[in-house]
Amino acid sequence: MSGISRRNFVKASAVVVAAAGVSGCTGSLGLNLNKQQDQVILPKSGKRVVVLGGGWGGTTAAKYVKLGDPSIEVILVERLENFVSCPASNWVIAGFKSLQEITFTYDALAKNYGIKILKTEATGLDPAAKQLITAAGRIEYDKLIVSPGVEFMYDKIEGWSKSAEDIFPHAYKAGRQTAILREQLVNLKNGENVIMTVPAAPYRCPPGPYERACLIAFYLKNNKKGSKLIVLDANDDIASKGKLFHAAWDDYYKDIIEYVPETVVKGVDVKSRVIKTDKGDFKGGAANIIPNMKAGSFAYKAGLLPESERWVRVNSFTLESQALKNVFVLGDSTHAGTVGPVPKSGFVANSMGKVAAAAVVNELNGKEPLKPNLVNTCYSLVNDKEAIFISGVYDYDENTKMITSRGGGLSPERSELYGKHAVDWTLSIWSDMLS
Ligand SMILES: Cc1cc2nc3c(=O)[nH]c(=O)nc-3n(C[C@H](O)[C@H](O)[C@H](O)COP(=O)(O)OP(=O)(O)OC[C@H]3O[C@@H](n4cnc5c(N)ncnc54)[C@H](O)[C@@H]3O)c2cc1C
Repeated sequence: MSGISRRNFVKASAVVVAAAGVSGCTGSLGLNLNKQQDQVILPKSGKRVVVLGGGWGGTTAAKYVKLGDPSIEVILVERLENFVSCPASNWVIAGFKSLQEITFTYDALAKNYGIKILKTEATGLDPAAKQLITAAGRIEYDKLIVSPGVEFMYDKIEGWSKSAEDIFPHAYKAGRQTAILREQLVNLKNGENVIMTVPAAPYRCPPGPYERACLIAFYLKNNKKGSKLIVLDANDDIASKGKLFHAAWDDYYKDIIEYVPETVVKGVDVKSRVIKTDKGDFKGGAANIIPNMKAGSFAYKAGLLPESERWVRVNSFTLESQALKNVFVLGDSTHAGTVGPVPKSGFVANSMGKVAAAAVVNELNGKEPLKPNLVNTCYSLVNDKEAIFISGVYDYDENTKMITSRGGGLSPERSELYGKHAVDWTLSIWSDMLS
């Protein structure tokens, strides 16, 4: 039996948190979004933390501020209707899961902790007035926690246009893009190839593209006779869990995955569906371009970093921005050179959410911030049953003043047990963030 059978997954995730559209409570503040952006809405009466971004870092931070001090008012600002999980989205591409199974409302955060959920776009920041500027109006804060994820650097790809995203889906923000890539695979004719490109590190989830390669290859092997997956990687080798991925590719997908390292995407031709690289042109029946990434665009609009840089500099002890006081930055947007050698993963964003929550709760109550600890385990499925993983534990080093690795490593091998652990990890961390 597959460790990730759909029946068990649906049952378990229903226990964890209500799937989108199932729950009755909206949690939304129902404001008039046509109000002037410079009008203060929801005037503040007591201590308030505003959290921008209802993803992995932001949901955790919002919940853990409330757990730390329920008297603090918490407003979570998110542009999207629902939370769609990037972890497990490769499983949707392979057909192991449905998009609905990885989609959740924010209702439990509103219902269980009294977090106010405001569904709107954050457009800027007034740090002097301590106000977040949104499409619905200005929101005052005592502390602002920002976890806006990543933005794609399409300006590096010649010929790119917005419509190209549907032809060459990144599927690196889960949701509609995930569904498009899945559909391209399903519609692939026998013998047609899939092209996938991997950006140079650093990027969100270092093992993510290689797990995806395994699962696309698994799908082709079982459904598309004669089709291959060509992986064009800007890195000189697999960027994470290399030994274990290479072993899985050799053992299961030797005739299916063609790996071309040190290959950089230069441009696309949307009409002819050609991907241009420094190693020549490639064309497939399905094509997945994972572009270079930088901090989420809100970080630039807020003045947290200049246009010339890619990641936000923070104080590694509290995750407070080096540029703006009372603004804390989490997750993929942060600069590892200022935090320490942690990967851009959901688990790290979740750990960072707890670090920042503890720091702001203590500061708002006149106490010193706690010494931070972080943890990361990242599972990758290599087929419908077996997984591999990498893990690490980190804390703050007084000498270097950085988050430092205290141990960790790779799984010794791939196994079905780790496949089951991958499912359990996903269910438990969703529960930690969202219920
Ligand atoms: C295919 C794939 C597989 C992955 N697998 C794993 C895994 O197995 N394990 C793991 O630990 N990690 C995994 N990751 C990585 C993980 O998804 C990211 O590291 C994590 O999402 C980072 O959290 P974040 O809070 O920084 O950003 P996000 O989770 O992207 O959250 C950002 C949120 O901010 C919102 N937002 C941004 N700007 C605005 C704005 N201006 N106004 C309003 N809202 C805004 C966005 O809509 C979004 O909801 C995977 C990623 C991918 C793509």
